[in-house]
Amino acid sequence: MVKNTTSLTFYGGVDEIGGNKILLQDRETRVFFDFGMSFALKKQFYSPPFLSPKSEKSLQELGILPQIKGVYKFDPSPPEVDAVFLSHGHLDHSAYLSFIKREIPVYCGETTRTILQALSDVRRADLEFNVGDIEFKAFRTGKKIKIDGLEIEPCHVDHSVPGAYGFVIHTSNGAVVYTGDFRDHGAKPEMTRDFVENAKNAEPVAVVTEATNMTGASVSNEAEVEGKLDEIVARADGVVLAEFAYSDVDRLNSFYHVAKKNNRCLAVSLKQAYLLEALRKDKGLKVPALDDEAMLIFRKSKKRFDKWESQLIERYECANRVCDVFEASKQQCKVILAVSFYDFEELVPLQPEPGSCYILSSSEPFNEEMEIDYERLINWLSHYGLPEYHVHVSGHMMPLSLKAALREMGAKRIFPVHTESAGLFARFMRDLKGNVTLVEKSREYKL
Ligand SMILES: [Zn+2]
Ligand SMILES: [Zn+2]
Repeated sequence: MVKNTTSLTFYGGVDEIGGNKILLQDRETRVFFDFGMSFALKKQFYSPPFLSPKSEKSLQELGILPQIKGVYKFDPSPPEVDAVFLSHGHLDHSAYLSFIKREIPVYCGETTRTILQALSDVRRADLEFNVGDIEFKAFRTGKKIKIDGLEIEPCHVDHSVPGAYGFVIHTSNGAVVYTGDFRDHGAKPEMTRDFVENAKNAEPVAVVTEATNMTGASVSNEAEVEGKLDEIVARADGVVLAEFAYSDVDRLNSFYHVAKKNNRCLAVSLKQAYLLEALRKDKGLKVPALDDEAMLIFRKSKKRFDKWESQLIERYECANRVCDVFEASKQQCKVILAVSFYDFEELVPLQPEPGSCYILSSSEPFNEEMEIDYERLINWLSHYGLPEYHVHVSGHMMPLSLKAALREMGAKRIFPVHTESAGLFARFMRDLKGNVTLVEKSREYKL
């Protein structure tokens, strides 16, 4: 007999920011929403590159990769999950797809597919990020996907990476909403509005919501960030070093606008250039062209380039859009140089002039793609006399906006994930109609 039950089990994203792995079961159908890497858990045991997990066995032993039957490619038993849906391309939501059985279909937005494919082209595959052989099934807003008796409606949301989605999942016991990561203060707040509206219209029985920003909240938006960046760049005499997340296209656009306004070029890394080239084909997105006169591709000093790097350099060299550190060093007041902390060796040949500065434009101490070693960063900045500005706006909803969105959705039950402050969240939301459940990892919650 088919049981008419619906349940949620959280294998990640519990008492931590990221690592979301949420299993929804409806009768005999089992679907995962996100399958991310947990930066926080990993950090408890590992310190790459010298201490890195060697195999999935280590990850499972330490509880970094949860024990789930019929899901992993190293598990010989038949698949017990019907599909995985990705909300967006950040690694804390997508990286552990690496371990998923390849016969389990993976659904994601078209832009997310582009981002993950570009990322796997430019990164050497390793144990924890190896998605090059996955055939993603792509969707866009408005599409409805049927997995047995389940109907899943993706809807765009605004987040710090393009192509982010929330979901309305129609189960045999009513609609379940999953927000993924979202905000209403980015470049496209109207997308989040659409999602909240859709969620509300579905009269959900439950909502699984991110609750990242319960402390350290601020009121700002991407437009304000651009204004602040402009203020700094306009007054800097030397080079402006800019650290922002590789896939944060909104931030890249803000830096690009500011560069243009101040007669500078935005010099991006080869990796970023490769992604931009891929995203240019996406009609829904606005990204600068690499042959634009306010854009440059920064060629790091190294002896050997990968094939994709040499090809990219070749494509833009004739248009004079490629520069190395020596050229950048000669025209410091003409450049905003996108750097990652791992590129800091370039500061030695660059020799930043007085009046140069560094802008950290991602969340600290980590963004959703990498961790920043803050102490060492400051040592480098101090050595070269580079003041550090922090100009950033979060990719996540602020508490009062989140509350308003949840009130509007009106779900009977609320499950906070992707947060270290679930208790605070529950107390802050206690006057909402829906009951907040403080989630325990790997426990099944019947709806
Ligand atoms: Zn996240
Ligand atoms: Zn995210």
